[in-house]
Amino acid sequence: MTSSPLALVTGANRGIGFEITRQLARLGYAVILSARDAAKGEAAAAALKTEGLIVSAVTLDVTSADSISAAIADIENKHGPLGVLVNNAGILIDGPGGFESSLFDMTDDTARRTWETNVLGPAHLIKAVLPGMIAHGVGRVVNLSSGAGQLSGMGSGFPAYRMSKSALNALTRVAAAEAGNASGTSNVKINACCPGWVRTSMGGPQATRLVEQGAETPVWLATLGEDGPTGGFFRDKAPIPW
Ligand code: NAP
Repeated sequence: MTSSPLALVTGANRGIGFEITRQLARLGYAVILSARDAAKGEAAAAALKTEGLIVSAVTLDVTSADSISAAIADIENKHGPLGVLVNNAGILIDGPGGFESSLFDMTDDTARRTWETNVLGPAHLIKAVLPGMIAHGVGRVVNLSSGAGQLSGMGSGFPAYRMSKSALNALTRVAAAEAGNASGTSNVKINACCPGWVRTSMGGPQATRLVEQGAETPVWLATLGEDGPTGGFFRDKAPIPW
């Protein structure tokens, strides 16, 4: 058991998730860094421990309901209830052609794999942790969405990814409404955010933001005070249209 607030970040062995883990740990959170590949998760946690941060690794593939329930049980047995869940793991596998990728190139396999990772994974994780948050009357869930999922500005390119992030936004609203109804308090907060265009394996070398900037809004939402928003969509710590 730990007395520090306990946070779980998915897909945290690299990219924005790794930096969210680092920033939460710097704020005094005990952070569980999850990765689908055990060795990559251990290596990433070891790197952060050399910075003096309290981080431990757990293996978690967001596309496997069994992996999720085993990981959550293991975390809560060892460390106690989770106060923060950051649904960061995501894939962008539309192709070919990047921004030019067409709906007519989208295979069912691409659409299914994207849905399983970007939507069903976060849904399973929310279902695994939300009852505990409601029971304890406190919790923060952050869904890493994207401007690519905004219906207000929806365009072509990356069809499977765009549809998955719109659905993740819908999941955010549904879960926030259910948490509000069930908890009877406003202290379980579930929000979505766009990190901006971030220089990672997914964002590519031309992206305009560093991971440090990409992690800022997710970390802000993970650490909201009791008067903070719920059921919202944010970039740069400000609301953006759905
Ligand atoms: P990234 O560098 O490609 O990293 C993605 C992470 O997700 C990796 O750790 C990867 O693990 C993990 N992952 C993928 N499938 C998984 C699975 N089934 N189970 C567990 N982990 C899995 O991506 P990123 O740029 O950091 O993006 C993080 C989040 O921000 C994503 O949700 C993304 O959609 C969103 N986002 C990013 C940008 C951007 O410009 N980068 C913009 C808007 C939104 P492996 O190492 O094992 O592959």
